[in-house]
Amino acid sequence: MKKAAPIYVTLFGLLIAGCSSPPPALSQSRIYSMGTWVDLTIRDAADAEAAISDIETMLASFETDYYAWTPGQLATLNESIARAEASVVSPELAALLHEARELSARSGGLFEPGLGALVELWGFQSPLTDRGTPPSAAELEAQLADARIAALTVEGTSISSSAQGLKLDLGGIAKGAAIDIATTILSGHGVEHALVNAGGDLSVLGRSGGMDNERPWRVGIRHPREDGLLGIVELEAGEATFTSGDYERFFESDGQRLHHLLDPETGRPAEHTQAVTVIADSGTLADAAATAIFVAGPERWRETAEALGIDAALRVDAGGSVEMTAAMLDRMTPVSGGDSDIITLAGQDDPR
Ligand code: ADP
Ligand code: MG
Repeated sequence: MKKAAPIYVTLFGLLIAGCSSPPPALSQSRIYSMGTWVDLTIRDAADAEAAISDIETMLASFETDYYAWTPGQLATLNESIARAEASVVSPELAALLHEARELSARSGGLFEPGLGALVELWGFQSPLTDRGTPPSAAELEAQLADARIAALTVEGTSISSSAQGLKLDLGGIAKGAAIDIATTILSGHGVEHALVNAGGDLSVLGRSGGMDNERPWRVGIRHPREDGLLGIVELEAGEATFTSGDYERFFESDGQRLHHLLDPETGRPAEHTQAVTVIADSGTLADAAATAIFVAGPERWRETAEALGIDAALRVDAGGSVEMTAAMLDRMTPVSGGDSDIITLAGQDDPR
């Protein structure tokens, strides 16, 4: 939904202006990719420009090759699956498909990158395709059985599926994978301290602050509905925080908010949750886990986090109540946004 980005920009501006010692960034740049702005804050390194240019190239290839609805590797793979043929993909995409399949299994199928056909029925593949009315039960039913990445076989770079109706959608994990590669590119160019922020889903390298007041990067987590922060967490070097929320992409029908996070068991938007924020050592894991824990709902969210190896997770339920794991409670400081480097608006889509 479009409204988020301007708020974020304003807040960020206020924060920088309001900080007693703003983190000196040698380089601050933004690249529009995957439906959102990716903000790069680089505190060091002479060849930041070369790193930014490599990241730009990488993000552009992600947009074509990892998105199921534009011509590229993933779309070609989906076409091969529909013809019951094996297809060869790049080693990078094969590795991500392998990881996505593993994470799906560990989440008990709640993270389900095989639900592309269901996403398409709802029109959630793009902000331009929202449909305004829900698909019928019969339409959903017809796609449910094949919407399982468990049917996928990854043998080296050769990919095949035992289900012809499987349509892969990496929308719940691709941003995390892209952010991980972005931080790897930055490290490769000698950058030691940086923040890669894709609309509130982010990963950090090193530390924030100036030469004489280095400190961990601080991230303010906003409530999905109310004004103000739930709290601030400090991220250790290499950590990522990702959020999945019901406000990112949705339409209203009969007074119901129908959003883009689907329960793979019903094919319908998962109920009972407004937002989930997690912290992990990798963006890929954090992205998939936020989606899975969101879908898991009140009864299963804690066990799902545990199964995915996530210690720090926070959940805002449908009524706006906040619950969190002991590790998140430990790490979260209930203070105002003035102390944070960045406010996460939590994975807001930002169509241009
Ligand atoms: P965003 O990328 O919008 O910040 P997410 O990472 O939570 O949010 O991913 C949401 C996207 O993931 C949806 O738009 C859809 O393409 C896909 N998706 C929806 N439900 C699931 C699910 N249960 N498991 C995996 N992917 C999903
Ligand atoms: Mg996700």
